[in-house]
Amino acid sequence: MRIHLPVIVAAALFAAASYAQDDMSKVEIKTEKLADNVYMMTGAGGNLGVSVGEDGVFLIDSQFAALTPKIQAAISALSPKPVRFMLNTHWHFDHTGGNENLGKAGAVIIAQENVRKRLSTDGFIAFLGMKTQASPAIALPIVTFTRDATFHLNGEDIRATYAPAAHTDGDTVVHFPKSNVTHMGDTFFNGLYPFIDTSSGGSVAGVLAAVDRELKTAGDNTKIIPGHGPLATKADLKAYRDMLAAVSSRVAAQVKQGKKLEEVVKSKPSAQYDAKWGKGFLAPDKFVEMLYGNLKK
Ligand SMILES: [Zn+2]
Repeated sequence: MRIHLPVIVAAALFAAASYAQDDMSKVEIKTEKLADNVYMMTGAGGNLGVSVGEDGVFLIDSQFAALTPKIQAAISALSPKPVRFMLNTHWHFDHTGGNENLGKAGAVIIAQENVRKRLSTDGFIAFLGMKTQASPAIALPIVTFTRDATFHLNGEDIRATYAPAAHTDGDTVVHFPKSNVTHMGDTFFNGLYPFIDTSSGGSVAGVLAAVDRELKTAGDNTKIIPGHGPLATKADLKAYRDMLAAVSSRVAAQVKQGKKLEEVVKSKPSAQYDAKWGKGFLAPDKFVEMLYGNLKK
């Protein structure tokens, strides 16, 4: 996806890092082993999930275009095979920026059908004031699904499950049942206030529903990859759920009373959580503003 110039600052913010689009040269891709053949990779943008084995490489998300060579190099340290399948957890540019490169390299790109719809046309992320351009055909998911899909690969049944109206209208949560690993995409920001993209069909209720489904199925030893932030446990996901439910219900109550945005922000409904969650992509006031905009809708 090509990004307009004014977008660059927001893109860097979005990655919760100080890297501008043209300064990916300093970004390092770090690999963390989670199970025999499942890994998490971090660089800039959304966290990656990787399954390697005799059937080929299955990759979750693609970060930014400038990072594709580094991501491919990190994968080649794990497997001699190229990326066979790449699944996008949602359409945002910090998860799909490498799609064009990977598509050209022969990867089959897969996503929930709304991801393809949004990548196919010019887009706008209202809260960030960010315009995005339609992706070229080679960068689009060529296999789409509505509810879920299963990949019988590398010795396990990898399950991709749609999370409706969550962070966007096209989120997928991916389970590796044998490896006991889950990739939550951006339905989970670990240790930083989450962004919920109302203008892309996201909702607080949908994020809470996705998290609740995972809390029901995850065990204490399940390794949970968040869209942003460090690798997590079920306890971390529970803490995130409790924070989001508490702050959003306080904001919702004030919305119901007809309070103005400034009044809600001034009431500091997130105060008790700010020290732990407020130092990432969204500062406390912006987080409250984001919730207000979502819940007012
Ligand atoms: Zn996102």
